[in-house]
Amino acid sequence: NALLELKDIAKVFYTDEVETHALSGVHFDIQRGEYISITGPSGCGKSTLLSILGLLDSPTSGSYRLNNVPVEDISAAERARIRNKEIGFIFQAFNLIGDLTVFENVELPLTYRDGVSKAERRDRVQEALERVGMAHRLKHYPSQLSGGQQQRVAVARALVGKPSLLLADEPTGNLDSKNGEAVMALLDELHKSGSTIAMVTHDPRYADFAQRKIFMFDGRVVDEETLHRLRKEE
Ligand code: ADP
Ligand code: ADP
Repeated sequence: NALLELKDIAKVFYTDEVETHALSGVHFDIQRGEYISITGPSGCGKSTLLSILGLLDSPTSGSYRLNNVPVEDISAAERARIRNKEIGFIFQAFNLIGDLTVFENVELPLTYRDGVSKAERRDRVQEALERVGMAHRLKHYPSQLSGGQQQRVAVARALVGKPSLLLADEPTGNLDSKNGEAVMALLDELHKSGSTIAMVTHDPRYADFAQRKIFMFDGRVVDEETLHRLRKEE
């Protein structure tokens, strides 16, 4: 059964009387427990799509159902509430807060939730950090960790709220290949233990880790052959 269903999604940005059609006719489902990658050239709409999937932005038209709930034109407050509960984000630049410890960074998403006691927060942070192999660094600050370690902490932060969907935007983009592969192995493990993951990457090697690959070109979802043909014509 589908965790999310996108039907005919379009996103248009209007800036200084210029219209940018960032997404057009985007139509696909993601099943519970699925791991998909989204690839395509720079500017093809990957980040815009991820922002819509993650309820950071809403589409100009089309429908989006998450857990069977229509979320395409709900209020910003309702979007934030559902986002906080259902979505975990992993970014290229890690986005940890420099003056918070590892523990505090991972705890942060839980502090926005009602009804999670301090003791429960502590247990869940501990558990999330154990899953990524960083439980021995609770009191460290991000600047005291390598890039690969920071990304593992960021993965723990994404997991701690037990989201139904993990979104990763170029999660290996700031890592060397050894650390990049370690983060991919971690995503693979999360997938095997039941997480639903959508990952944007421009690196075909990493896209191959996913169970299903989605290709984009100029705001549209295309098949792989079409993408190769269009890129040659550019
Ligand atoms: P975003 O929209 O998240 O910024 P981009 O795809 O525009 O993602 O770029 C992310 C990073 O990957 C940038 O540093 C960019 O220079 C690099 N990048 C994007 N596309 C390619 C590509 N085809 N080959 C190599 N590097 C790329
Ligand atoms: P990608 O992540 O594949 O590099 P993006 O989703 O970032 O692509 O961008 C898709 C298109 O939408 C690009 O033409 C980009 O310039 C445009 N775009 C993205 N965000 C905005 C915005 N906030 N305002 C105006 N145009 C935007």
